[in-house]
Amino acid sequence: QQQLILHERPNGLPDDNTFQFKEVAVGEPKENQLLLKTLYVSVDPYMRGRMSDGPSYIEPFQVGAPLNGGIVSQVVESRSESFEKGDIVTGQLDFQAYHVVEPKQVRKVDTSGLSPSTALGPLGMPGLTAYFGMMHIGEPKEGETVVISGAAGAVGQVAGQLAKQAGAHVIGIVGSKEKADYITKTLGFEGAVEYKQGNVYKQLKAACPNGIDVYFENVGGEISDAVWPLLNTFARVPVCGAISSYNLKAGEKDIGIRVQQYLIKARAKLQGFLVADYASHYKEAYQVLGNGISKGAIKYEETIHEGFHAIPDAFLGLFSGQNIGKQLIKVADA
Ligand code: NDP
Repeated sequence: QQQLILHERPNGLPDDNTFQFKEVAVGEPKENQLLLKTLYVSVDPYMRGRMSDGPSYIEPFQVGAPLNGGIVSQVVESRSESFEKGDIVTGQLDFQAYHVVEPKQVRKVDTSGLSPSTALGPLGMPGLTAYFGMMHIGEPKEGETVVISGAAGAVGQVAGQLAKQAGAHVIGIVGSKEKADYITKTLGFEGAVEYKQGNVYKQLKAACPNGIDVYFENVGGEISDAVWPLLNTFARVPVCGAISSYNLKAGEKDIGIRVQQYLIKARAKLQGFLVADYASHYKEAYQVLGNGISKGAIKYEETIHEGFHAIPDAFLGLFSGQNIGKQLIKVADA
């Protein structure tokens, strides 16, 4: 079977030298173990941080060792009483086509009518991130204006719909016309700002005549610099990510405007968070997201690449805005 390893740490944007495919044996499950076949692999922006060796909230990938991330698999052999052959499961696993795992390394996915891939998107880590960032930190209220950067991505698409359900007026910042159409026409956001068209401040000001009450921050950099002057009194800013800075080269600095004056003027609250901080509330989030999705009240998009070999390109595609909704790789059929 194929395994994907970190061949070399990238300096700046990863390239072909970053990744290497390796042939490894498929293990045999022992008593109380499972043999899994990978169906879907998730590529996520935070993986870029793990490719570097700096201090972080999460351990770096090791050179020569497999990359690892969210995977949905099917049980092909079970030697555990808690799982049956055919069960669909998800977990944080090495990037390879088969795994031998202990039952505690995975959780069962309830597929009731939905693709199992949703366990990596709206009903997985990105959905939970959107939920906690928006509902626990952003706390949008009826009639408020909510702006989301990276709005057509895995987290952004869910975050915006949750804000809409709370009665907010939602504006998304996106990198293309196709994404602008997706968030306004399919998801029903009130407006879209295409940052590649230039003058984000002017576009945002026009789209948000009443200022900005919640800014859900996914990208950082110049795009967000256009947001700070528009924050309203007591605005909330959940800082979820800053993807525009993830591929800076060694020594390169992310220099922008100083935000303090704007935060003071608006008495705004800016709070970084990690989805894992909310582990004790996951049940609440799964319930809200699961209900919304099964009723069609929360819509989602997936960009699915075919085959294990597509993982590196799909990962790089996150940084060129290639995906609408969740970026995934389909490795095998169930
Ligand atoms: P997305 O599905 O949103 O994919 C990334 C998107 O970011 C791209 O499609 C692209 O869209 C946009 N982008 C890429 N490079 C840039 C850039 N230089 N400037 C502006 N936009 C850019 O990813 P996710 O939804 O999975 O993640 C969104 C953010 O949330 C990331 O910053 C991620 O790190 C963060 N995150 C944080 C978590 C937490 O616990 N705090 C958990 C999960 C995610 P476009 O075409 O619009 O440019």
